[in-house]
Amino acid sequence: MLDLINELWYLKRDIVSHDFDQALYRLAEEIPMQIHEYPTGQQCWTWQIPERWTCDEAYLDTLDGQRLLDYANHPLHVLSYSLPFEGIVSRAELLEHLHVHPSLPEAIPFVFKYYERDWGLCATQTLRDTLTQDQYRVVIRTRFEPGTLKVGEVVIPGDSPKTFMLVAHLCHPAMVNDDLTGVVVGIEVARALLSRPQRHYTYRLLILPETIGSVAYLSTHEHLIPDMVAGLFLEMLGNDSPHALQGSFFPESQVDHCLTRALRGLRPNSYADAYRTVINNDERQFNAPGVRVPMLSLSRVEPPGSPTRPYREYHSSLDTPAIVSAERLENSKEVVLGLLEAWENNLYVVNDFKGEVFASGYGIWIDYRTDPEGHRILFQVMEHCDGENTIADIALKLETSFQAVWQVASLLNSKGLVHFSRTPQPTSPLCRMR
Ligand SMILES: [Zn+2]
Repeated sequence: MLDLINELWYLKRDIVSHDFDQALYRLAEEIPMQIHEYPTGQQCWTWQIPERWTCDEAYLDTLDGQRLLDYANHPLHVLSYSLPFEGIVSRAELLEHLHVHPSLPEAIPFVFKYYERDWGLCATQTLRDTLTQDQYRVVIRTRFEPGTLKVGEVVIPGDSPKTFMLVAHLCHPAMVNDDLTGVVVGIEVARALLSRPQRHYTYRLLILPETIGSVAYLSTHEHLIPDMVAGLFLEMLGNDSPHALQGSFFPESQVDHCLTRALRGLRPNSYADAYRTVINNDERQFNAPGVRVPMLSLSRVEPPGSPTRPYREYHSSLDTPAIVSAERLENSKEVVLGLLEAWENNLYVVNDFKGEVFASGYGIWIDYRTDPEGHRILFQVMEHCDGENTIADIALKLETSFQAVWQVASLLNSKGLVHFSRTPQPTSPLCRMR
């Protein structure tokens, strides 16, 4: 994963651009991928595909020709989708168009104005502080041309057409944690899923430019939406913060319960929070009206209250390979695979027994004197096995992890006491639990 990051991170991957295409074509060499293309001007629901944007050259000079800032030295020096501009400007006018990072004086900020057209440069606060002359020369040579927005799609067929969506964006020029880490983890997860002999769900991994890419894909694949039962957006997976799971627009959905309870079992130091409270990305398009696919989001984000949330180097030139590690990427891949394993196993537990099970008779009794927690979980899980609760439902009710319930349910299954079902199968005459 780090090799791919090192190869692709510095590309100028603006939403519709030569370098975005280069990065996507390179990723398509890693895994079977279909690339969808949407031409400039195409209407996608309420949106329109923008032009391809190219910056040939951009710099800021003093009037006596001293170069202060040059796009050739860093792609973030120009506002993404900046209008072309050339001229001598007053210091006041320059400062209106010169963006700096709010808290990192040595960082160039990532600023974009895709639809609200304007010209702009981005600099370090340190450079901005040295600008004391009355006038400066600005040169921004950018081009807006017809092109095609591209979305990469990896399909991993399952036994069921019901589909779990994985989504990551690729459109952050010369940055790593946001967003390339989500892309490379997504590809590794897809590869692992493809290598397995069997899956219940179909999985689709989308690699796209943020927001407009999701709208373009969804608006041209409306026939697939009814089968999209759940999803997970991936980004910021290589930095040194705890895993954070952001819930979907549907906090009571099975996928919300399942993934939240499973993450608790996988990474006890992680945390979960509500929709739109951790970080906002493409999951918004999937949860939105007319689509309504419950999509959660997984990232490594500093806990609520941290002054550098989501992480210190976010949207800046300091988001480089130096802040991610192979170990943390691997760890994130394991978390995603663990969440999907739980999703595959989130079945209704149907009792093939009546009354309380004679645990000693089946050799599964746990002595409450030596293992009080084991005893409690065993009996409380058995109590909820009635064909009306999934593993996730039981974990939620017992305030425990998905894995703890799965372990007991698997044991009961191995003793012939329960079986699993994809649909509810109530076994009590009056279904009193409903
Ligand atoms: Zn971002």
